[in-house]
Amino acid sequence: MTQPTLAPHEAASALFNELTGHAPMGLWSAPGRVNLIGEHTDYNEGFVLPFAISHRTVAAVGLRDDGRIRVASTFAEEPVEVHLADLAQVFPTAPGSAPAVPEWAAYPLGVAWALLDGRSASGTGVDIAIASEVPVGAGLSSSAAIEGATASALNELWNLGLSAKELASIGRTAENEAVGAPTGIMDQTASMLGAPDAAIFLDCRLLDSELVPLGMAEAHLAILVIDTHVKHAHATGGYRDRRDACERGAAVMGVAALRDLSVADLARAAELMDDVTFRRVRHIVTENQRVLDTVAALRTHGARAIGDLLVASHASMRDDFEISVAELDTAVEAALAAGALGARMTGGGFGGAAIALVEAAAVDAVSDAVVAAFADAGFAEPHLFTVSPSAGARRNK
Ligand code: ADP
Ligand code: MG
Repeated sequence: MTQPTLAPHEAASALFNELTGHAPMGLWSAPGRVNLIGEHTDYNEGFVLPFAISHRTVAAVGLRDDGRIRVASTFAEEPVEVHLADLAQVFPTAPGSAPAVPEWAAYPLGVAWALLDGRSASGTGVDIAIASEVPVGAGLSSSAAIEGATASALNELWNLGLSAKELASIGRTAENEAVGAPTGIMDQTASMLGAPDAAIFLDCRLLDSELVPLGMAEAHLAILVIDTHVKHAHATGGYRDRRDACERGAAVMGVAALRDLSVADLARAAELMDDVTFRRVRHIVTENQRVLDTVAALRTHGARAIGDLLVASHASMRDDFEISVAELDTAVEAALAAGALGARMTGGGFGGAAIALVEAAAVDAVSDAVVAAFADAGFAEPHLFTVSPSAGARRNK
């Protein structure tokens, strides 16, 4: 097994060499992402505002001539190998069941399957070795990073000519249909289309996106990630339940998706549905508005102006959507008490990470306060680090 202390591009190269006995044809990488605001709005065809982070997943890739695809990861014990022609038997994964390959391998193999769908497979086999510095399951989308790195590599080596936007969609297909996790398009879009010091304002219905400059450095601000180490499980329980509630709410209101409702519709919604469904709907509707307000605030006043919107987003997720956990609430409260301009849980919820918008000079003080609050509450020590809005998927070598 390759040493985890290596930079991911070195670890991926080393693993590739171990696997094949020769050097890769190239290295492709894609980043994780942080969602600044807009949570669970993606599958409601609404708005999200993520940014790509500097933590990346790297795929070292080379072609082979026997039509087989082999994937290996520093994350996994054993490589997985199948014939490309057999991918159509392996996938799609039936809803609610586990993939026919080890779950981690369903991400890169699912990307290959999605890329080949409807095309005549060229028969060119491929070896893929993966290493990552994106924390797994922390709400930073290591899943989109592995999809983006794999999709970028195969797009080039198989001469498919797909755009970054199309590759994001391929990643989503892999995650939905090969892994069986019913996620939206946000993570893959951020990972594929991210740019330095910018967030991606994505309309999840039209799939139009626009870069919104963040100006973090000029404003002397930083974004602190607080990984609680509490593990979430997208494919199960709470996530699916929230999606069902949103679909129910949209059906009751007679709209295609909750995106079609505005804050003014909430009074009528309150009369038509049970309390739980209403609160799920209220989160989505107000969160969509907060994304629009955040984009407007960034454009007119800069990142300093968005703190209260982050705080309101967290309260809505905690009280209305009920996807926060005690560790995330503690992280947010402690960061705010220590002077953060804003803070919220980020990602799907039920664990994972929170983010805090802090003065660059106050990163250490806020971090210390969060660590102390976790110790006081008897929680496991969180992992804190800053992230900077960074470039999306690209070829590295
Ligand atoms: P998140 O995207 O928030 O990190 P997910 O549950 O969506 O969490 O995706 C995490 C899963 O993605 C892992 O459990 C694993 O199956 C797969 N994965 C992510 N990164 C890697 C990697 N470097 N190597 C192998 N599998 C990975
Ligand atoms: Mg994910």
